[in-house]
Order: sequence, then structure tokens, then C-alpha cells
Amino acid sequence: MGVTRNSSELLLKIENLTRNFPVGTPSPGKSKNVLAVDNLSLEIYQGETLGLVGESGCGKSTLALTIAGFLNPSQGKIYFEGKDLSSRKVRKSCRTEIQMVFQDSYSSLNPRKNIYSILAEPLRINRLATKKDVAEKVYKLLESVGLPRHYTGKYPGELSGGERQRVNIARAISLKPKLIVCDEPVSALDLSVQAQVLNLLADLQKEYNLTYLFIAHGLGNVQYISDRIAVMYLGGIVEIGTSEEIFTHALHPYTEAFLNASPVPDPKYRREIHNILCEEAADALKTVSGCKFYGRCQYASGHCKENVPKLRFVQEGNTSHACACFLYEKFLY
Ligand code: SF4
Repeated sequence: MGVTRNSSELLLKIENLTRNFPVGTPSPGKSKNVLAVDNLSLEIYQGETLGLVGESGCGKSTLALTIAGFLNPSQGKIYFEGKDLSSRKVRKSCRTEIQMVFQDSYSSLNPRKNIYSILAEPLRINRLATKKDVAEKVYKLLESVGLPRHYTGKYPGELSGGERQRVNIARAISLKPKLIVCDEPVSALDLSVQAQVLNLLADLQKEYNLTYLFIAHGLGNVQYISDRIAVMYLGGIVEIGTSEEIFTHALHPYTEAFLNASPVPDPKYRREIHNILCEEAADALKTVSGCKFYGRCQYASGHCKENVPKLRFVQEGNTSHACACFLYEKFLY
């Protein structure tokens, strides 16, 4: 959003997606549902990196797992290249095309298998390699992620966190995916290693024409790698625009507070702190009839308490991107 896009470039379309989880005692009348993802719509275009940010518990990982097929939606649809992923047959046919890289590089690799087996297995299962060429393909994958051939004999426990994440990335690209969902892939790594893995992801994107959904709870890495950024709050997108628009012309009070709370490496984007979060932390269990940010927003009015703001394009000053806030009612277009 904020950029004119051709619909033929659309890779993934999420329409009114809801994913809830029951919480509390499962007795009649007492069980409650927490809406991890709440009526969320989003589009991801071919070749882009869409950054998805928000504080812990806002539903980012649930959204990632639902897109990747590890969770089923409670309601709503996900379309991949126009195909409805709620059909089992379609999901199966697209399973190699959407891959995921997890935050925990260790638990996402089988500690009992060496790197060769970890990389060769998906190639064999998905018939992307024959007995003859599987070894060559494994070596090529290792080379693509900057690891030497002799690492094939090592086990995950013998590698550093950054090296393990490189193996995870190699495994993800081995299936020739179109979309990789990266769920906080560098947040558990040291700062210098984070930069190396981000550079690797950027290089691979060019080489393999990949599209990324890059999830993070901070803004530093997201700013570096993303073309667009979506800001998530309690299950919904509250603002989405190009990386430049979000960093220089954030509109939503939550985005503003989130930017103020995050260290931003690029001095061009450092900001005066003039919006801080009010009151209590976000509570996904609390039922609200209006804007979910109402209890923490210093600009809240009575109207916000009773009405739900929709994500709509806003033209304000030098910026035009989508935001869900009543403050911009008169700037809608
Ligand atoms: Fe704040 Fe109201 Fe905007 Fe919600 S709609 S973010 S409560 S001003």
C-alpha cells in the first residue's frame, strides 16, 4: 500500500483472517476465546520484503504459522497466487512454495541428524534431487548460505547460532519456495551475526527471486530489510506503508509510540520522543467494543471507545498510506 501495484504481482492475499484460541476452564459459559489474529487482511507482492512488527503477544507468530500452514484459520481465507489455501489439495500442492525460518535455530533442526541428512532429506522427499545429484545439490546449498562443504558431517549442536540459522535458510531455499516467512530469524543472534544473516537473506532474495514476510518485534532490522512495513496491534494491522513512510511519517499513535520505544540505528530516522504509551500493557483477553488501542492512547476520544477504526488510505502532508485511526478521518481518500 502506498505504492501502486499491479494485481498480477500479488503473491499472497489474506482476507478477513481470524485465528482464536480457547483459554480458561472449558466449562459451559466460562470458556473464553483469545483472538490472536482478528479479522486481518493483508497483501504480499512478488519480490518484496514485507516487514511485520508489533510487541510480543500481538499475534505476529500466529499469523506466520497460519500462513505457513501449521495452524488453520478460524475464519477467513488465504490465497496464494490466487489459489484458496483452505482446500487441502491446494495447500498440499503449494507446500514447498511457502517455507518458514524460525527464531530458534536449534530446536528447528533435528540434533541427531548431521547437516547432510538435514539438507538432503527434503530434496529426496520432494523429488528435487536424484541419488546421483543429491550430494552436489547439498554442497551447492551450503555454498549459497556461505558454509563450507565439510560442514555436511557436523551436527547442529556443533554449530554456532548464526551457522545453524544459515542451515535453516539453506533448508528453506532447497525447496525452491516463492515465499519465505521469517519469524524473528535473527533476534536470538549476536548483533554482528544478525547483520551477516540479514545480508545473506538480501542476497538470496535477489538470486532466487524470493518474497519475504519478515517478522520482528523491533524496528532496527526491519527497517534495513523491508520494502514495506505493517504494524500489528492485538491481532490487527493498524498501519502499513513503505519503509520510508513508516519511519518518516508514522500516522497511527501506536506506531509513533513503537518507533519512540525502539532504538533506530539510522540517525536519519531518529525522532523526538513526543508520544508515549499510556496506561496498561496490551491485553488480548480484554473485550473492547471500539478501538483496541483506546486504553493506551493519549489522543483517544469517546468516539474511539465505541467505534472500530478501519484500515484505510490516508493522504496527509507528504504521505499516503493506510492507517486505522479516527484522527485521520478527514484525510481519507
Ligand atoms: Fe487513539 Fe482513537 Fe486513533 Fe484508536 S482511533 S488510535 S483510540 S485516536
